[in-house]
Amino acid sequence: MKYDYLIVGAGLFGAVFAQQAKAQGKAVLVIDKRNHIAGNVYTEKVEGINCHKYGAHIFHTNNEKVWNYLQQFAVFNRFTNSPVANYKGELYSLPFNMYTFNQMWGTVTPDEAKAKIDEQRKEITGIPKNLEEQAISLVGRDIYEKLIKGYTEKQWGRDCKELPAFIIKRLPVRLTFDNNYFNALYQGIPVGGYTKMVQNMLDGIEVRLGVDYLANKAEYDAMAKTVVYTGPIDAYFNYALGYLEYRSVRFENEIIDKPNFQGNAAVNYTDRETPWTRIIEHKWFEFGKDEENNDLPMTVISREYSSEWKIGDEPYYPVNDEKNSKVYENYRSLAQKERNVIFGGRLGEYKYYDMDQVILAALNCVAEVNN
Ligand code: UDP
Repeated sequence: MKYDYLIVGAGLFGAVFAQQAKAQGKAVLVIDKRNHIAGNVYTEKVEGINCHKYGAHIFHTNNEKVWNYLQQFAVFNRFTNSPVANYKGELYSLPFNMYTFNQMWGTVTPDEAKAKIDEQRKEITGIPKNLEEQAISLVGRDIYEKLIKGYTEKQWGRDCKELPAFIIKRLPVRLTFDNNYFNALYQGIPVGGYTKMVQNMLDGIEVRLGVDYLANKAEYDAMAKTVVYTGPIDAYFNYALGYLEYRSVRFENEIIDKPNFQGNAAVNYTDRETPWTRIIEHKWFEFGKDEENNDLPMTVISREYSSEWKIGDEPYYPVNDEKNSKVYENYRSLAQKERNVIFGGRLGEYKYYDMDQVILAALNCVAEVNN
């Protein structure tokens, strides 16, 4: 066999695995169905702006190992994610912090804000059973109604009572004036875009694009000792145990002939009626400047529309509710019996991974198999 590893998918899991395996002297081939590398972190230059083609990706981590690992492939800027929520024209700071509480209730001190939240969270007794209960118990009903309910129901196409509590725990709640969306020691955007970073990871590695592994599985399997599969796990098994549900996203991109559309990288539309969930203005990930530090005259925006995934769509978010988790467990059992195949990444493991988590998972995985 020509290769030690055939890596299916040139996203973060695949690229990290490939980079590490190659560094250990293995023969590696990376293939991807798309005609570009970098999976969903792919960035593309439009009007001099690195646009996040598959949605906003803001790198953040508390893991020093992951952060140090990435420094070999990119220089990160000092971007800090501070989205703004627009509820019917009322603007609120995110994540939930002293600015948000002041905008919502007029509270000024942490004690006042805490008293207000405590009064509202009493509604929930016992351990929160779903996203709605979790949200109210974290920040109270007012914030839930204006900043969470509509957005979440658009994003997931499901009632907040039917969604797992962990999804809302991704967002911090703070009694300080801190608009940083992430509780992370390290944060930033790779200067020049994610595509360049992944390109650097794949330096010297054979990559074939626009090829469909599942359509020619036997042929590809014969090329390598081990397959690293990062596509949807249910598609791998030809949906034999049923379909896993995913959320997909449709982007409406617009080039606008003015320098500033919304004054921020991300504005979330948290009401139920606005059809999009958020608008991304890509230039602000790199402070509105080009490489020579000149102001960019144009801007590019993307409206995000969330939809239920169906065959032919791009899967973005696994729906980790009870029903799907059971189906996934069945697929996982099948996967464990599959010889010489490793399943990894957001789609291969059906997990709402952040970028740093997926990188760590790939680093751990490659270390384990090459031991
Ligand atoms: N969320 C919300 N309102 C917001 C932003 C987020 O209710 O303005 C909820 C929503 O349920 C979302 C979850 O928090 O799915 C996680 O948000 P995050 O920003 O982590 O989502 P991602 O960027 O991965 O789409």
